[in-house]
Amino acid sequence: RTVYLNGQFVDEQHAHVSVFDRGFLFADAVYEVSAVLNGRLLDNDAHLARLARSCEALQLTLPCPLAEIEQLQKRLIVENQLQEGAIYLQVSRGNSGDRNFDFPDASVTPTFLMFTQARPLVNHPNVQRGIRMVSLEDIRWQRRDIKTVGLLAPCLAKEYAHQHQADDALLIENDLVTEASSSNAWIIDEHGCLITRPLSTHILHGITRHALIELIRENGLQLEERPFSLDEALNAREIFISSATTFIWPVIALDGKTIGDGKPGKITLQLRDIYVRMANQATEG
Ligand code: PMP
Repeated sequence: RTVYLNGQFVDEQHAHVSVFDRGFLFADAVYEVSAVLNGRLLDNDAHLARLARSCEALQLTLPCPLAEIEQLQKRLIVENQLQEGAIYLQVSRGNSGDRNFDFPDASVTPTFLMFTQARPLVNHPNVQRGIRMVSLEDIRWQRRDIKTVGLLAPCLAKEYAHQHQADDALLIENDLVTEASSSNAWIIDEHGCLITRPLSTHILHGITRHALIELIRENGLQLEERPFSLDEALNAREIFISSATTFIWPVIALDGKTIGDGKPGKITLQLRDIYVRMANQATEG
């Protein structure tokens, strides 16, 4: 696999970052993950706009203009002949040659890297199978709207889920669901109304979440953006999670309790079909 690192396209075996890189020492770095479908980037403008917002929030300099980043992403997709999967990009505050909490001076340039990941998006087995989740206290920091690589809490959450015979964790703060460990969380109530937590610093502002809201409105489905409790989730008719690389995955059990009839929910699958159709249209031809 070819990866991109600081201006060069090199084989992954030859891409090296310093032990003094602030991304490595302090998680002083931001990232983005865009889906690639039919060999093309999906919703990439929104991902790059969020990258710019994450950088601004941390006074981190973008390595180059967003349009140039997109050209680099496209070249890497071609280099690796990626048809379906994801492209990961990361910008760290760079290597200041030592371990020092203070920001380095302006001469230190950011470390900018990208790699591709081939994986099925449209026909992932979890779509028909559904996933099992367990609830867990959300112990992440207070600025979850900034997409930083400080991901130890979500790693612990996923590991906890696996150790409890589940696929992922639903994160809870003050009895309210924030999101899943790496996706936004949704429930559907007994009236067929879709519910997801409103944007704030408590959750990542998911690009897929935003796209789904537009599709929900266009298709005349009911939507409420409001916080919901773990109890509501346990009693929901359907639950699903959304992200760039899962699109939508149905949830069939939460804390060992069956959701709905234990199969992927109808409205969930309907909405996924609508999303996949939009995604194919946006990336084909
Ligand atoms: N929340 C968290 C915590 C995430 O890590 C992600 C995936 N990056 C999402 C939500 C979904 O965001 P997106 O739809 O932009 O992938």
